[in-house]
Amino acid sequence: LFPDQIKKFIEIFSKLPSIGPRQATRLAFYFISIGKNNLEEISNAVENLKNIQICSNCFFIHSNQDNLCNICSDKNRRKDLVMIVEKETDLISVERTKKFNGRDLVLGEMAKGGILDSVQKLRIGQLKNFIQKTCPEPAKGTHGAAEEIIIATNLTTYGDLNALVIRKELSDFSKKFSRLGRGIPTGGEIEFADEETLEQAIERRS
Ligand SMILES: [Zn+2]
Repeated sequence: LFPDQIKKFIEIFSKLPSIGPRQATRLAFYFISIGKNNLEEISNAVENLKNIQICSNCFFIHSNQDNLCNICSDKNRRKDLVMIVEKETDLISVERTKKFNGRDLVLGEMAKGGILDSVQKLRIGQLKNFIQKTCPEPAKGTHGAAEEIIIATNLTTYGDLNALVIRKELSDFSKKFSRLGRGIPTGGEIEFADEETLEQAIERRS
């Protein structure tokens, strides 16, 4: 019934988050209906995402010439204060509050059993290197340590469990560990907290 182009489109778009075959089919007909110019604009917008890169330090996205994102190349931000988030969108929510002036690590979403996969271990390794290189040694330490690492996983049972795993992994690399303050509603997901709530959660971290 469908030409091959539409079949291919449905096959690819059905795999996208929160889109199934039915939505993909509707989207295909919508795209066909909007005309070539509008369609070209959409396909360019997708195409241009190819130029987005991942920061070699914190693994957030950027489109700069060097390998660092805007946060990591900002000299005014503290290097001894680190916030670890699971998703890029969590980082964006935190940045919107303008209440955090440290650096970040985007870890990637953790499995629900509090286990770090190989990519996450690599990212934590990169953070350890960064801390060793940029933070001074504490009195009794053998290598540099951050002043504080905020583990901003979601405030859910799994998020708490994941935070414990991350903290254990980094125990020698910070003088203090904290979590965002309670009060983030709807299942404790950082991404969905409104700005004011998140601001307070950052200020009331403990
Ligand atoms: Zn970065």
